[in-house]
Amino acid sequence: MQVHNVDLTISAVRPEQYPSTNYPEIAFAGRSNVGKSSLINALINRKSYARTSSQPGKTQTLNFYDIESLLYFVDVPGYGYAKVSQKERDKWGQMIETYLSSRQQLRGVVSLVDGRHAPTKLDQQMLSLLHYYDLPVLVVGTKIDKVKKGKRNQSFSIIKKTLDLRPQDELILFSALDKTGKDEIWKWIEAKTK
Ligand code: GDP
Repeated sequence: MQVHNVDLTISAVRPEQYPSTNYPEIAFAGRSNVGKSSLINALINRKSYARTSSQPGKTQTLNFYDIESLLYFVDVPGYGYAKVSQKERDKWGQMIETYLSSRQQLRGVVSLVDGRHAPTKLDQQMLSLLHYYDLPVLVVGTKIDKVKKGKRNQSFSIIKKTLDLRPQDELILFSALDKTGKDEIWKWIEAKTK
């Protein structure tokens, strides 16, 4: 999709704050610094639309981006900051679980993991949650430009195995620098939201 019009429609915490429009939604989740803002910006051809690396301590909100008045990208705040208190973690967990379990418009979740390393425990927990709610999942392995071409098959296998992916889950390796994987990711999104 060629994206020209994007609006941050709303930052929401509770369901009554979610947009009332019926557009299909694709959520993006991953640990802080995984490259989520860079992926969203690449998909919508912007340099810095989605804010990069939201800091700990800031209000954690679900950010709904209106894409061409056709669909929403829902930016889920990153997990895994060492400095975040248990109370903040619990609040985050409740917000994301409420959204994932109850949102009718949600068509799929893009779950980002660092393509250079084996997924972490928190990444595994995120995948378990998505599987528990039986959501369509696309795993994106980020920063793949940092992995030599000859080693990428190995990265692919390690991610697939560590996350215990289901046959229907997809996995795409991505680079925000050279845009490897971008078209494939859009294809997945379009298939889920049409
Ligand atoms: P977020 O916290 O998940 O939104 O992550 P950001 O998109 O802000 O990226 C975190 C850091 O990783 C930044 O310094 C980015 O420049 C870098 N980064 C993100 N994507 C890529 C990528 O595909 N390749 C490389 N080499 N660096 C990346």
